[in-house]
Amino acid sequence: MNIQVPNVLVPNANLKAAPSAPLVDPFGRAITYIRVSVTDRCDFRCVYCMSEDMNFLPKRDLLTLEELDRLCGAFVARGTRKIRITGGEPLVRRDIMTLFRSLGRHLESGALEEVTVTTNGSQLARYAKELAACGVRRINVSLDTLDEAKFRKITRWGDLSKVVAGLDAAQAAGLSVKINAVALAGVNEDETAPMVRWAHGRGMDITFIEVMPLGEIDGERVDQYLPLTRVQADLAEQFSLEHSDYQTGGPARYVRVKETGGRIGFITPLTHNFCESCNRVRVTCTGTLYMCLGQEDAADLRTPLRASESDDLLMATIERAIARKPKGHDFVIDRTTKTPAVGRHMSVTGG
Ligand code: SAM
Ligand code: SF4
Repeated sequence: MNIQVPNVLVPNANLKAAPSAPLVDPFGRAITYIRVSVTDRCDFRCVYCMSEDMNFLPKRDLLTLEELDRLCGAFVARGTRKIRITGGEPLVRRDIMTLFRSLGRHLESGALEEVTVTTNGSQLARYAKELAACGVRRINVSLDTLDEAKFRKITRWGDLSKVVAGLDAAQAAGLSVKINAVALAGVNEDETAPMVRWAHGRGMDITFIEVMPLGEIDGERVDQYLPLTRVQADLAEQFSLEHSDYQTGGPARYVRVKETGGRIGFITPLTHNFCESCNRVRVTCTGTLYMCLGQEDAADLRTPLRASESDDLLMATIERAIARKPKGHDFVIDRTTKTPAVGRHMSVTGG
């Protein structure tokens, strides 16, 4: 792949070109995928993700884009093949394109298979072309409804027309788009079939996600939770769903819709645990490494990163952390479990 973009960030000279031994956790799972949350801030306030009144991290706690790039490089040197940039809303971080540009060098060298992004779409009209120029090929856009008023209610601050303009720009730039929709009881459960028709009509796959108990929100999780077993049963009444072996390296299970030719994914952390095939870890914008989305254990990578220009300390810290990656999460959503599985919001760990 030949990507003609200037690298503004200076790549770390300490990283060896040839990858050393890949990272493997105690359960034999190779860690080949990192999700990097580049900011905890967002221009939306989705009801299942955040409370309206959020305290965000002070800017001084954040890793610089250069440090994030160095961190990504360290993982790439140890076998990471795929990086997803997420947040908060990744595209609201100032100068974020310099990180995408710099990561493009790993795509060019073949060390990385993919750099992708998960976004709420609000800034896509502005950045889609540049993302494509940086070597991004696929993006996930989160969209839970096609009804403007409902969209405003779910996101509190969002504007549906901007997201749709972002989708148009992304597709015009040649990006392959997958829609992610969180299934919300009594909110969008009547819209799942229309959303499938709409997404497939535009050549986009769509994945439904079960709401997860992450962080305190205004209101009760249990009132939001809609098991995807119900969504799938409803969709099966309207479409012929065929089993599909399609995999994107993520946790979704896919079916193919005979009538549209498109795919529907289901991410079911509650009704069907997928931890046995987990190949990923998550890094926050402060350099905290979470080995599991649903557990509190974490490793601080910022200290070793800043302690020396060599990556030896950083690599050793990463190795020790991977050696204690847990087997899986213990998510529960019911009327008796009042506290979230973990205190941090999805916007901190990165979706
Ligand atoms: N702001 C970007 C976006 O919305 O796509 C990226 C970050 S967001 C945290 C990533 C994904 O997590 C989104 O698809 C969002 O719908 C999902 N999400 C957020 N909180 C969630 C929760 N508690 N349970 C399930 N999914 C959640
Ligand atoms: Fe922002 Fe994404 Fe969370 Fe919505 S889901 S509040 S868009 S980070």
